Amino acid sequence: MTAWDKSVDFLVMGSGAAGLSAAIRGHDLGLEVLMVEKTDLFGGNTAMSGGVVWVPNNPGMKKKSIPDSDEEALTYLKHITQGEIDEERLKNYIDESKRMLAYLQEHTHVRYTSLEKYTDYYPEAPGGKSGGRSMDPTPLDGARLRESLMAIRPVHRQAQIIGKFGITAREAHSALGLGFGTMVFMAWQLFRYALRFFKRKKWGRDTRLVAGNSLIGRLFLSLRERGIEAWRNTAVRSLVFEGRRVVGAVVEKDGRTLRIQAKEGVLLAAGGFPRNAEMRQKYQRKPITTDWTAGGPGNTGDAILMGLDAGADVALMSEAWWTPTSLVPKYDEAWVLVVEKSLPHGIFVNKSGKRFTNEAAPYVDVVLGMYDDASRNAGASSRWFHVFDAEYRRLSIAGPIAPSKMMPDNRIPRRFRDGGYIHRAATLDELAEKIGVPAPALKETVDHFNAHAVKGEDPDFNRGWSAQDRYYGHPSVKPNCSLGPVSEPPFYAIEIFPGDLGTKGGLVTDLHGRVLRTEGGEVIEGLYAAGNTAASVMGRTYPGAGGTIGPALTYGFLAAESAAAAVEPAADAA
Ligand SMILES: Cc1cc2nc3c(=O)[nH]c(=O)nc-3n(C[C@H](O)[C@H](O)[C@H](O)COP(=O)(O)OP(=O)(O)OC[C@H]3O[C@@H](n4cnc5c(N)ncnc54)[C@H](O)[C@@H]3O)c2cc1C
Repeated sequence: MTAWDKSVDFLVMGSGAAGLSAAIRGHDLGLEVLMVEKTDLFGGNTAMSGGVVWVPNNPGMKKKSIPDSDEEALTYLKHITQGEIDEERLKNYIDESKRMLAYLQEHTHVRYTSLEKYTDYYPEAPGGKSGGRSMDPTPLDGARLRESLMAIRPVHRQAQIIGKFGITAREAHSALGLGFGTMVFMAWQLFRYALRFFKRKKWGRDTRLVAGNSLIGRLFLSLRERGIEAWRNTAVRSLVFEGRRVVGAVVEKDGRTLRIQAKEGVLLAAGGFPRNAEMRQKYQRKPITTDWTAGGPGNTGDAILMGLDAGADVALMSEAWWTPTSLVPKYDEAWVLVVEKSLPHGIFVNKSGKRFTNEAAPYVDVVLGMYDDASRNAGASSRWFHVFDAEYRRLSIAGPIAPSKMMPDNRIPRRFRDGGYIHRAATLDELAEKIGVPAPALKETVDHFNAHAVKGEDPDFNRGWSAQDRYYGHPSVKPNCSLGPVSEPPFYAIEIFPGDLGTKGGLVTDLHGRVLRTEGGEVIEGLYAAGNTAASVMGRTYPGAGGTIGPALTYGFLAAESAAAAVEPAADAA
């Protein structure tokens, strides 16, 4: 056997939420840690994200007098996961996510506040809450990262106002009304952006880090202060075994192949497989491609494939953190329609001109609705459109296109108008012809929808019934802020796709993040997985905003504790 090029206690593959949480916890427990990242930027999908975490019964709720309990959280998770996830595992998440958060808030720069208005995605389900469990990272002055600022992957383009600065989840929600307050807020943000001119010049990009950039910035700052080694442009290529135990990995760093010994284990925290075409075709429902994901370029399933080679079991491979998306010309990542789908004066229709789901439902369910529609109707040749009217345009965003109050039609950039992103027509018949759906069917759908929408009702799909549907509704629209007729010309359409924020199927792990074998379900010694590399604790569902990063931080943290063998997680949980 050739010698090791480097020896550490704990090797962490990937630099997103799961990887950074593990690296920090491992270091604090006395492990010598090396974190490696395949791409040229740290942070993964997490850096691009909203950075929100879903942690039930969290201290922020107590501060805001929002009642919650572990029992209610368990009732909720049991209900929404529909018996697919063991109760012990759900309880483990409820206990350990709180402990992880308390630790990071006490010992690192990570800071979260509870979003009191952000509803669980099924707030009316037993144990569901109308706010508080989703938490927003506090903005960070990126200048504190100094040169490392430019090593952090930027947020998704859609999280940047006029392509310049980001806003938090709380700010995004309160800006929905587009009233006087929103205008003052935007003017204030622009003024502050102008004040940061010299900082921008010095550090190379805007220094107000929000959302996923704030989370990654805060974790990275904590990592750097601890002197934990982190290598970019370094891909794990394969695992090294001694018998059946993982003892290290082969990595490729700047074109050089290195053998890294990992005495206490290797953590696979390399995200899921949204960008692996072969795996998507093999495991997922059709139609599917790698083009519709909003996730970053690094998530190509490398770690899951390594786990499979090592004999690991996988679960939930057909699933993703689904969300409808649109494809904006010249953007690398798809645009997530989390807000647009709930706004009044618009509907989603299929190729036959018919509605097929509650557009304002949780985004996972909207895409499952698209797939059900595909299997009932046009199969792999299915297409779907977001159809809306002039009133929608006046009040609301449509992908990167600002409301017509701020961006009239003649100011919409040419690449969106001529590139086939947004279609516009004086009548519904003309619009139907432009997008290739039968005009009589579209007209019938719209007339039927409008007759009920004016009363704030949707007898077909109950849109606007749940508080979740109304979270991103337009505050000025009555009687139901998620429902308004599609009646005022001109009419518009944007094609939408069954996209995702990342995949959620992966390696099966135990409560400590240890990877389990297919055969006999025993632990693969020395191998851990967390984040989207591991099969999700949330099963096929999504409990609320933050339902992916909460578990990623938690199971990275637990894996490090297990590798350090310093803490009995279950004993500490109470
Ligand atoms: C626009 C958007 C908004 C979102 N908002 C939220 C939100 O607010 N809350 C929430 O919970 N979720 C959100 N998500 C989803 C969330 O971002 C992901 O589910 C989560 O960040 C995954 O974390 P992770 O640690 O598993 O992986 P990642 O953050 O993707 O990190 C994995 C890293 O591993 C690297 N890697 C891959 N292969 C290798 C290799 N061979 N060697 C070394 N490194 C490798 C990748 O390059 C990547 O940097 C959002 C997603 C998007 C796209």
